[in-house]
Amino acid sequence: MNLHEYQAKRLFADYGIPVQDGDVARSAAEAVECARTLGGDAWLVKAQVHAGGRGKAGGVKFTRDLQELEDVAGKLIGSQLVTKQSAPDGQPVNCVLIAAAADIAHELYLGAVVDRASRRVTFMASRAGGMDIEEVAATTPEKIVTASIDPVLGLQDFQCRQMGFALELDATQRKQLVGILHGLYRLFCERDLSLVEINPLAILTDGSLCALDAKINVDDNALYRQDIADWRDASQEDEKERRAKEFDLNYVTLDGNIACMVNGAGLAMATMDIIKLSGGDPANFLDVGGGTTAARVAEAFKIIVSDSKVKAILVNIFGGIVRCDLIAEGIITAVKEVGVNVPVVVRLEGTNVNEGKDMLAKSGLAITSAENLADAAAKVVAAAGGAN
Ligand code: GDP
Ligand code: MG
Repeated sequence: MNLHEYQAKRLFADYGIPVQDGDVARSAAEAVECARTLGGDAWLVKAQVHAGGRGKAGGVKFTRDLQELEDVAGKLIGSQLVTKQSAPDGQPVNCVLIAAAADIAHELYLGAVVDRASRRVTFMASRAGGMDIEEVAATTPEKIVTASIDPVLGLQDFQCRQMGFALELDATQRKQLVGILHGLYRLFCERDLSLVEINPLAILTDGSLCALDAKINVDDNALYRQDIADWRDASQEDEKERRAKEFDLNYVTLDGNIACMVNGAGLAMATMDIIKLSGGDPANFLDVGGGTTAARVAEAFKIIVSDSKVKAILVNIFGGIVRCDLIAEGIITAVKEVGVNVPVVVRLEGTNVNEGKDMLAKSGLAITSAENLADAAAKVVAAAGGAN
């Protein structure tokens, strides 16, 4: 689960990580009100969306003028913000963060992730922070230093000092960094995060450090024990992926026009590959799981046909834990119930495969059976309008 910047900054404040004053506004009038309450003579209007790269996309505006602040907030709220990291059609801006502008001397980068290879929380830091950290990682990776945290010993002060030197901080800043890193590590562990990023962690003109941006991902598997679970903002999530999650289906929206329904993640990956190989483009990744039931197959069909891009559907099920005749029954029920009006190609293999194919053939529905994976891919690509 992703958090908004304003939510992440609340957590930062709870854990002693310095953030600038700010408040969230849901209308232009509220934005002005926030700025007046904050005081000062310069503010930032920041679109709250689950995507980075807002600065370059017009989602972060610096202003000294309350009228301009009102205009910018009014324009942003209710709009879709398209950034390098957002969904192709953007993310809805339902609120903006009004922050008291800080005077920046230099922008650093600081982040932490669960590194799967070492199975440890790993901190990353760079002197070359700001908006282009992805570029830094790609072209000059030596500018990023890392520290891997022993889960038993926890974060050690020497690791903090090493990072402080690598970031070319002075003695006072290094001391402040030790506090920030310890706070961040405690936050990471206690709140079951999978990622936290501060970009930029700014050195202000007064020499102190301050988190000007905040990104947090919380591990979904731990939400049951986190009270921040109700901070979820479903409006930022892909509607189809959200529904799939409700029914325990593993679903990821993709750009193509051939929907796939498969049991098993490996088979799903192979199916997407062979669609590509046959000149088509998958519209999604969908693993309906091992113990597929007719009801879940129906739900999966509903999600698939709600995508207007889909021109054909490929069902590729291996009858191992479930029998092919039960799957066929599920497909027939689902196609009838959901009203699927694009061609459906089905490839079944495994237990009771002949019974299953027989049922599909006798169903009277426009379902094409395929002999094997290659045949299925060729048939579905043809049904979707041919190879590209
Ligand atoms: P992102 O583009 O989505 O990562 O949004 P950020 O919150 O990182 O803001 C983008 C950029 O705006 C930062 O890299 C800063 O250069 C600038 N910025 C953010 N906060 C402040 C601030 O308080 N004062 C000033 N002067 N610039 C800021
Ligand atoms: Mg940023």
